[in-house]
Amino acid sequence: MTTSEIIVTGIGVGRGLVVGDVRRMPDPLPEPAQTTSTRTADDEIVRATQALGETAADLRARGVQAGGVAKEVLDALALMADDPMLLADVTKRIESGSTAERSVFDAFAGFASIMQAAGGYMAERAGDLGDVANRVIARIMGVSAPGVPQSTTPFILVARDLAPADTALLDFDIVRALVTTDGGPTSHTAILAREKGLPAIVGATGAEVLVDGDVVIVDASTGDIVLHPAAARIDEALLEAESRQAAREGATGPGRMSDGHEVALLANVGSSTSASAAVDAQAEGVGLFRTEFLFLDNDTAPSIEEQQVEYSAVFDKFPGQKVVVRVLDAGADKPLSFLTDEGEENPALGRRGIRALLAHEDILRDQLTAIAQATATTSADVWVMAPMISTVEETEAFVGICREVGITKAGVMIEVPSSALLADHILDVADFVSIGTNDLTQYTLAADRLLGTVANLQDAWNPAVLRLIREVGLAGERTKKPVGICGEAAADPVLAVVLIGLGVTSLSMSPTALADVRAEISRFTLAEARQLAERALSARNAKDARAAASLAFTH
Ligand code: PEP
Ligand code: MG
Repeated sequence: MTTSEIIVTGIGVGRGLVVGDVRRMPDPLPEPAQTTSTRTADDEIVRATQALGETAADLRARGVQAGGVAKEVLDALALMADDPMLLADVTKRIESGSTAERSVFDAFAGFASIMQAAGGYMAERAGDLGDVANRVIARIMGVSAPGVPQSTTPFILVARDLAPADTALLDFDIVRALVTTDGGPTSHTAILAREKGLPAIVGATGAEVLVDGDVVIVDASTGDIVLHPAAARIDEALLEAESRQAAREGATGPGRMSDGHEVALLANVGSSTSASAAVDAQAEGVGLFRTEFLFLDNDTAPSIEEQQVEYSAVFDKFPGQKVVVRVLDAGADKPLSFLTDEGEENPALGRRGIRALLAHEDILRDQLTAIAQATATTSADVWVMAPMISTVEETEAFVGICREVGITKAGVMIEVPSSALLADHILDVADFVSIGTNDLTQYTLAADRLLGTVANLQDAWNPAVLRLIREVGLAGERTKKPVGICGEAAADPVLAVVLIGLGVTSLSMSPTALADVRAEISRFTLAEARQLAERALSARNAKDARAAASLAFTH
């Protein structure tokens, strides 16, 4: 290491290794002060009108450049910026003494609350108004626009965290890696990175020191960001990146450890489009087919026929292979007007998943019937599971209804500590279980998976989570029934090996994660995976568990 080299560490996502220049995403703008303007109203109106017009033109130009869906999104944002009603509102506010910045802020906020009150799609778009307002205000103030920097040359994006609106428009030919100071392994940034196969390091608090133009090496496998690397170090990194790429490309076929022990590598899919990506990535089937997309944004559940068409479209992509369908997981962050209760103070602890479905059994029965009918016309091996199971009784109720409608493989998700601890009883009833580590971690650590301020707790490496998984693995071994993993943890190649050591029999993940996981598990025997798991289980915290297991990965 040279003296000027600095290493900043965070939580790596994937196994990618990239060398490049930093571009920082500007921090969000502060709320404009509520002071009386010192300019004339006419001056302020010119400032606001110009900024609104320029913002709309800029959004449209970027839309033309991006094309496709991104163009539609950007055109819709541009329409917001040059809405005449909005300009009239801004003008009125300026005329009563407010600054251009504050008037734009207040006018957009007023519109956003109207859209929020309208509910549904309108409410979802309300957040975009805030984004447009910030762009306009930045122009008035003459500072960098918030959001992803524009560039035609590749860079490594450094940000506090990325909002869905930022990531929707990321150009993956230009953005080579993501580094965030906030956020954890299940943050939106981490999920997107995994989905797109983009190297990322999240929760790297020390990355505050990085500035535009810094040359860095980002190694997602170690979570290290090397700032000011020496030339020799860069050469080494580039060679290593090539060899990893070769290993990824060389690892094909079914999941197999070096001793021949097989672990099915499956994909998480959410529609027939993502099912195609799973096929391209050589998934051995689907370990989690999330069916929420059919229900969200609707006022009523889709008919049995409508559902059957969608299920068949996915099943038919996997002839002769396993497809695990999860019935609707509504509630918490996915409320549905016709299914979930309004006004719950803690919806993540309320009537979510199977609880909501058993309270509306007709919706569950219809969905299971549609799945059973689609199963009858496909050669895919269809399994069905329920989310958010916390008791043996819920398992019995779900499996019972599955049997009634003719579903032969009925299982449950283990996402709550109680069901992990009762896995032996649950597996006496269910045909299989699949562990949802995203929720299992959230409920074990009592840390909202969507809340940035507790993201550091949302780490499946936490030995408490690993010990619960061990309970499930043991129950699977005793009952000789399959134990899958379908949370984000399965996409972490090092953790994937540990999970196998804990008794997991299949791993399901975003299709883009499959190649790295396939390559990594092929380097270890089952006995070695068990040793690594023991080390991780006895660690005091997530960091030590990861370090204990990762040691073996460096040689
Ligand atoms: C999980 O909780 O790990 C899971 C796979 O389900 P979802 O992320 O859809 O809640
Ligand atoms: Mg879940």
